[in-house]
Amino acid sequence: MDRYSVIENKNKREIVLLKGFPCIWGKCTFCDYILDNSESEEEINKVNLEVLEKVTGKYKVLEVINSGSCFELPKETLQRILQIIKEKNIEKLFLESHWCYRNRLDEMREFFKIPIVFKIGVETFDYNFRNIVLNKNAKFVSPEEVKKYFQSPCLMVGIKGQTKEMIEKDVEIALNYFSHAAINVFTPNSSNLERDEQLVKWFKDKYSFLD
Ligand code: SF4
Repeated sequence: MDRYSVIENKNKREIVLLKGFPCIWGKCTFCDYILDNSESEEEINKVNLEVLEKVTGKYKVLEVINSGSCFELPKETLQRILQIIKEKNIEKLFLESHWCYRNRLDEMREFFKIPIVFKIGVETFDYNFRNIVLNKNAKFVSPEEVKKYFQSPCLMVGIKGQTKEMIEKDVEIALNYFSHAAINVFTPNSSNLERDEQLVKWFKDKYSFLD
């Protein structure tokens, strides 16, 4: 697995995919990334410290993700990230968290002491699709509620059952309410959800400017 990468187009940054303790929720119907979770702190830190060695600080921006939330990273990993921020002159961090930790985000801000863009897996602003079909357990109603805590919603497109109208509304919200957003196209995995190829094609044509 490639756990280090550099994003060279929009919002240039280095990105690391770290290992974490089990996701606090772990029940989203589309998710099999939690297979990367581990209960062995030693194993987690070993993997993470190796990956973090690759960070150069070339864009002074670092994104740290794991298959869950940043609150599921062990202390030793967090300490190493902090050291790297200082050593490589990182000025901005992107971190990701589930909705359930929304009242704890400042703990990370106080710990790292640099600006943090907090990402959240919203998947869609359609309440029923998010919470019933995707079982996301993120029970906010409006984008304003999300914006109170998070700067960058992650959206998912291309799952069977999603509609064009839902996606259009989601993109409109992302563009009008938030400074950042990420849109992922669903890739078939070991979950039971299926990809809607026609919907993906329509999305790629209509929203190519977002690439
Ligand atoms: S919150 Fe994220 S990591 Fe956890 S089960 Fe849902 S999609 Fe997977």
